[in-house]
Amino acid sequence: MKIDILSLFPEMFTAVLHESILKRAQEKGQVVFEVTNFRDFTTNKHNKVDDYPYGGGAGMVLTPQPLFDAVKAIKSKNETTPKVILMTPQGRPFTQAIAEELAQEEHIVLVCGHYEGFDERIVEYLADDEISIGDYVLTGGELAAMVVTDAVVRLLDDVIVSDSHENDSFSMGTLEHPHYTRPADYEGMKVPDVLLSGHHKNIEQWRREQALIRTAKRRPDLLVSMSLTDNERALVAEIISEK
Ligand code: SAM
Repeated sequence: MKIDILSLFPEMFTAVLHESILKRAQEKGQVVFEVTNFRDFTTNKHNKVDDYPYGGGAGMVLTPQPLFDAVKAIKSKNETTPKVILMTPQGRPFTQAIAEELAQEEHIVLVCGHYEGFDERIVEYLADDEISIGDYVLTGGELAAMVVTDAVVRLLDDVIVSDSHENDSFSMGTLEHPHYTRPADYEGMKVPDVLLSGHHKNIEQWRREQALIRTAKRRPDLLVSMSLTDNERALVAEIISEK
């Protein structure tokens, strides 16, 4: 997969893309990152990327020319046709399902806004998609692009052990079950007996129940569209009524 990032602050990506799993994914050839400063594409004398909003008002707006030209340059030097995605609080709320959808793409371009955001012609004519990482406003799209990149790359084949993300929260529709590791007794705080039993079927059932219980307590909205057995439905109803 290729991930291009267009940003006015490319140095912000140095640590994130060159550590841990993202670093390993690049070394193994599963992903190629390219971070470009779209200020380099300005055609005006002062390399300005923004201008005052028509109609007045506070803040500056990103002008179309540098971003249109930066995307054109990316398209002309790659054989793939990338999906151009704007980072914006007005976009589709980012979810695990969207991360899975993007992990199927061969090439994406994540565009980081700044100031008041994008001239609307960028939204209408350049972007294929718009993504928000949550209902709050950041100063720029860089952190949002990092979040999307991290969530997508860990889903690529062989980047991490596949069942470690297949059981992750949201992948199964629920939050994930609790985890425990050694020691079995830490200052009187004990690991549930079932996990020490070696009985795989019972362990699986306990994990499923725990995942349902914590989802019912913390994120009941996730359960609305899930298909549950009669027993599971009864368990969820009990937890919800206790709440
Ligand atoms: N005036 C814009 C609005 O109200 O929709 C917000 C602009 S924000 C200060 C500057 C940039 O940060 C945006 O263009 C976008 O790229 C990025 N950004 C801010 N919040 C974001 C979020 N929740 N998700 C994704 N990107 C975000």
